[in-house]
Amino acid sequence: MVSRPTRMTPPVECVRLFDAAAGLDGVIAIHSTALGPGAGGCRLWHYDDVDGALADALRLAEGMSYKNALAGLPFGGAKAVLRRPAGSFDRTALFRAFGRAVEALGGLYVTAEDVGTTVADMQDIAGVTRHVAGLPPAGGRAGGDPSPWTARGVFEAMQAAAAHTLGRDLAGLTVAVQGTGNVGADLCRRLADAGARLVIADPNPARRDRLAAIHGAEVVHVDDILRVEADILAPCALGGALNAESVGGLKARLVCGAANNQLAEPAVADLLMARGIAYVPDYVANAGGIISVSAEYLGEDEAEVAARVARIAPRVTALLDRAAQEGRSPAVVADEMAEEVIAAGAQRAAA
Ligand code: NAD
Repeated sequence: MVSRPTRMTPPVECVRLFDAAAGLDGVIAIHSTALGPGAGGCRLWHYDDVDGALADALRLAEGMSYKNALAGLPFGGAKAVLRRPAGSFDRTALFRAFGRAVEALGGLYVTAEDVGTTVADMQDIAGVTRHVAGLPPAGGRAGGDPSPWTARGVFEAMQAAAAHTLGRDLAGLTVAVQGTGNVGADLCRRLADAGARLVIADPNPARRDRLAAIHGAEVVHVDDILRVEADILAPCALGGALNAESVGGLKARLVCGAANNQLAEPAVADLLMARGIAYVPDYVANAGGIISVSAEYLGEDEAEVAARVARIAPRVTALLDRAAQEGRSPAVVADEMAEEVIAAGAQRAAA
């Protein structure tokens, strides 16, 4: 079986951002607005040139379209990618300049935190535009750190996938968790509470060893986590963990984690399938964070966030059912399900 190398449409809009005085250099990529404004975080990272930032923004914006659509959110997909200035720089000046660019789009793009940006940066942006989320929660509304919601969604997705694939709950199963940061640590707590045995790896010894002490987890080297004896692998570090080599060495029968872009390339989904390893597509499992962020932007309360996150697990079951019935990879089926949602939204918008 051959995976489709690319997904659907080109972006709706790309905006070049440049303000030398403020240190702003990057792009906003809006991939789709069929379901609503393009929503996706703002990444501040080291890029050699703006072409690298653009390529990342386009890939990430597309991923957000799929994630938001399948999560049932009234948002399209977008992402901002900013080049981190060399040396010291004035963050407030940079993010206010970025916020003015967001404001100029008049609500076509809604931003939030991503790799390299913080709540304080979002507060700077909020000084010049209301099209921002990821701010501290106020007045019982949704908001604040989305990581616990992401971890809850991944945990419940894993429960559903374990029931579907392994025919049992998580008690007594061994879960290898790659990355014990904000999401990975919360996921470990939930897994330990559910009676799972943990094997963990993280290059940050403070985080890793604290977790190991609390939950009695076995610690392994980061180079070994992908090939340890485990029933389930939960990639919760950076993207691209699953490639031809790492999939060849996997012992786990199920992969379900928080990291974005876990497959180094689309064809890796077929390699997983050929080895009989079930895969819960990353953006299906890890939607809890954007669910929280979007509820904050829409002024909803936490009950709405909880209700939407609770729909992740049944969605995983439906996805794995459909993939099994059709003999196709869940990754390909998830993309199709998201495309169906986006196409229906585009039709409604055109009517
Ligand atoms: P984080 O930065 O808090 O944690 C990532 C952890 O991974 C760090 O502790 C880091 O030391 C560790 N790590 C890095 N390289 C590693 C390696 N080779 N092996 C093992 N560990 C390694 O990030 P986070 O917020 O926990 O997010 C984790 C992943 O989930 C990221 O890919 C992120 O994009 C994705 N994600 C997060 C959210 C959210 O709400 N935070 C939402 C959706 C997706």
